[in-house]
Amino acid sequence: MNTIAERLESAYQQIAQQCTKLGSNPADVQLIAVSKTKPDTDILSAYQAGQRHFGENYPQELADKAVALSQLKEICWHFIGPLQSNKTRLVAEHASWCHSLDRLKIASRLSSQRPEQLPPLKVMLQVNISGETSKAGINPDQVLALATEVTALPGLELKGLMAIPAPDEQEPVEPAFARMQQLSKMLRSHFPLASELSMGMSDDWPLALKYGATMIRLGTAIFGVRNYERHE
Ligand SMILES: *Cc1c(COP(=O)(O)O)cnc(C)c1O
Repeated sequence: MNTIAERLESAYQQIAQQCTKLGSNPADVQLIAVSKTKPDTDILSAYQAGQRHFGENYPQELADKAVALSQLKEICWHFIGPLQSNKTRLVAEHASWCHSLDRLKIASRLSSQRPEQLPPLKVMLQVNISGETSKAGINPDQVLALATEVTALPGLELKGLMAIPAPDEQEPVEPAFARMQQLSKMLRSHFPLASELSMGMSDDWPLALKYGATMIRLGTAIFGVRNYERHE
């Protein structure tokens, strides 16, 4: 199709158009370029085109890329994948954000492993909004309890909620986004600083913006289709 720079420009234009339609401010929406499985050269191209926020799903891959691209001073790494306790150190040491926090054990490890010279790790609680047992994330009724525990931990800053509504389910994605918006309002009423809402991917981001997403995670739309071979 086009170059990465062209796809980024087009994505930002479409986001601005959608925000105008919704009466919201494009400056309140963060585009996270999801670079999982993609080479460092693609990330460099996006960075040179002005992109600063990148998302990765695999802790080792995030750490490797963060080290290899450490000359890009303004780059900001978002960890968005499932996190096992034996991989928390990689995220604590190399990411600025973790969107997929779903249990206290992981939060405690991230808290103790976050290097003191770095600012607190910004964390989001991942919510299982589709109610499917196979999906990661806490149940909506657990949000407040985990949020309370996380805010007590040093080295972490609770920023909001994240969800990945299952796209190929029977259940349409719109009611799931709507439930997330309600949940986000509830959380903010207790923790006003936890105002971010990370939801929406290449196929469904316009709908996510309609329901108050502040961070959308675009992979395919920016970098093209993925080849998963390196993770098999
Ligand atoms: C891969 C991934 C994305 C990006 O998906 P696209 O459909 O390629 O935009 C976003 N969020 C998460 C959690 C992902 O794993």
